[in-house]
Amino acid sequence: MAEQIQTNDRQRELFIRKATRVAASYLNRAKQLAEPPEAARPFFDALEDVYVNLRDVAKPEGYKSIGTLCVMVPPELIYAAGAMPVRLCSGSYTAYSIGDGYIPRDACPLVKAVMGFGKIRALPAFDNCALLVSPVTCDCKKKLAGAMEQVKRVVPLHIPPLKREDADTEVFLRELYRLIPILEEETGRRITARSLAEGINAVGAAQYEMAEFARYRRHVPALLPGTQVMAIMNSYSYMPAGVWARRMRALNAELEVRLAQKRFVSRENQPRILVTGSPIAYPNLKIPLLIEEMGGVLAADETCMGERGLYDPVSVIDPSFDGMMRALASRYTKPCTCPVFVDNSQRIYRIRQMVKQSRIQGVIYHVLRGCLVYDYEYPILEEALGKLDIPVIRVESDYNEEDVEQLRIRIEAFIEMIKLKEYAKQRKGA
Ligand code: SF4
Ligand code: SF4
Repeated sequence: MAEQIQTNDRQRELFIRKATRVAASYLNRAKQLAEPPEAARPFFDALEDVYVNLRDVAKPEGYKSIGTLCVMVPPELIYAAGAMPVRLCSGSYTAYSIGDGYIPRDACPLVKAVMGFGKIRALPAFDNCALLVSPVTCDCKKKLAGAMEQVKRVVPLHIPPLKREDADTEVFLRELYRLIPILEEETGRRITARSLAEGINAVGAAQYEMAEFARYRRHVPALLPGTQVMAIMNSYSYMPAGVWARRMRALNAELEVRLAQKRFVSRENQPRILVTGSPIAYPNLKIPLLIEEMGGVLAADETCMGERGLYDPVSVIDPSFDGMMRALASRYTKPCTCPVFVDNSQRIYRIRQMVKQSRIQGVIYHVLRGCLVYDYEYPILEEALGKLDIPVIRVESDYNEEDVEQLRIRIEAFIEMIKLKEYAKQRKGA
């Protein structure tokens, strides 16, 4: 591990200048792909506030922030304690370069960026988190939980790597019960059956609107660029669920109008791409931007900063306190398609389903350097997609801009290959 860096005022100032510039430029490029719907602006503003204007997240009066590092940490429980969950998985290149001095070289850039923010103390959304709930999933997250203790109180959350019907849900349920007094002590508020039901409803409303949004996203031709969709999905990490749901309702209404006006942002024959793999966390919109700048339509994503985070609503059958806790424990592990689970056939099933629903013609498999769990699953997915005659490429990237040209060439060639394939198909059918 490199020697520890002493952060001083000058380093902090340089960091702020660079980090805010990069974050602003990625958001601007996303907006320039096509005129964004007016109702999409609050989502972009939320990202800009956190990463460019360096403001704390906008949260309800009197709420504390609780940082989380995975979609498997139930936000409902945090809302129930009268606090705001803030997902801190970051794609900041600048924070990554700071974290690189504290985390082993071969670790993934995402955990380095989280550590970088912890050390530099320049992101209020991060600094103001009272504590960090960190899942024990892949090796990088596991070791990050220990390393982050230097900068913030960390509560590790054990995620059972198997999905055995009762045994593993019980383990996770115990973990969630263990979290309750920690959250209550931090916020000074009790988690009651009522507050838990309110938390579930608030997140449920966001999930409902997201499902509607996904319906518009699937439309051919596209109603808005997929890179803007990725930014909108990322903003969920920094907005209260109820506010996000209201804004999303307005966006869905505007998309309905655009649909009626046939106001599309792509042509019918542009290659439709699904991106899956390691998280695509703002500001790291490198891959989505390259896909769309090279003429593809990013029509769907199977990533945990995208649709996966809001995919399945919590299904409460027993409305007692324990019944709701059980529903949370089940929702946040069983349907999760993250490759940290031993058997992940659900992910293949889900991707096949998305390929069909979104009329996908090619898949880009994104692997962040050092992210072994996603890399492991590539050959399995390649085989499954081969049976469907869907081309797939694996692209490895890091949090820097040095690999952009190489990625651009590969992605452009992939998109051209899909165009040729579709052309040949049409000729055959003609
Ligand atoms: S990749 Fe998996 S472990 Fe990592 S944050 Fe996403 S869901 Fe959690
Ligand atoms: S799942 Fe991959 S990207 Fe996420 S923390 Fe682990 S190694 Fe990093």
